[in-house]
Amino acid sequence: MYQIYALKCGERDTTACEFFYREPSHDRITLHFFVWLILGGPHPVLVDTGFGEDDAKARGLRGYVSPAEMLGRMGIRAEEIPTALITHLHWDHWAGYRHFPAAEFWIQRDEVAFWTGAVARYDAFKMSANPGALSELVRLNYANRVRMVHGDREVLPGLRIHRIGGHTAGLQIVSVETAKGPVVLTSDASHFYRNVERFQPVQIITSLPEMLAGFETIHALAGSRDRIVAGHDPEVAQRFETVEPGIIRIA
Ligand SMILES: [Zn+2]
Repeated sequence: MYQIYALKCGERDTTACEFFYREPSHDRITLHFFVWLILGGPHPVLVDTGFGEDDAKARGLRGYVSPAEMLGRMGIRAEEIPTALITHLHWDHWAGYRHFPAAEFWIQRDEVAFWTGAVARYDAFKMSANPGALSELVRLNYANRVRMVHGDREVLPGLRIHRIGGHTAGLQIVSVETAKGPVVLTSDASHFYRNVERFQPVQIITSLPEMLAGFETIHALAGSRDRIVAGHDPEVAQRFETVEPGIIRIA
């Protein structure tokens, strides 16, 4: 059985109409930015790598704390993390790779192909990229630090990744056996609970049908709404147990 923690690295405001698909409301919404830590196996497993202070500043985030510092508060040295599951390669999930010099990064091959391919250069996609971090991905691959996978895969017994797509070409989510039952870390397959609960997509899309099918997959894997962990929703802190500011015990 595994234990899971959501570790917050910052926050930023936007508006509902800018974020949700065909949403008329101009209400202000706040995104929280996380990495997720899975304990209880033979070694810690990190889900996503966060980002650096450079992106936090450039993109107007408040309250930046580096993912390495958040892991330190959990008593874990970032330099020793051996496995990081990368849900997708947007800046806020990948650009923190440099905090984890010992990690092997598990990424869907469709995701790597997209961000190193012909379409990524258009503004509609480039706005979500950190080009320096994506260039480094190629070097890390030649250094045998990238494990490219396709589809669903068991990482450790009771810990699986599942290809979803939709928001990005090879977005993957993580399911984890815990004492509460199977917990699903959706990352950006469901930024907010209203995505997965009302089947409302977001604006940043590579495939709308995949995004909608992904909501069904999340429900099927979790089996209960209380075991779904949305990727950027401040409500995660209310639905689960906040241990100290920025550290939420999921299970
Ligand atoms: Zn994100």
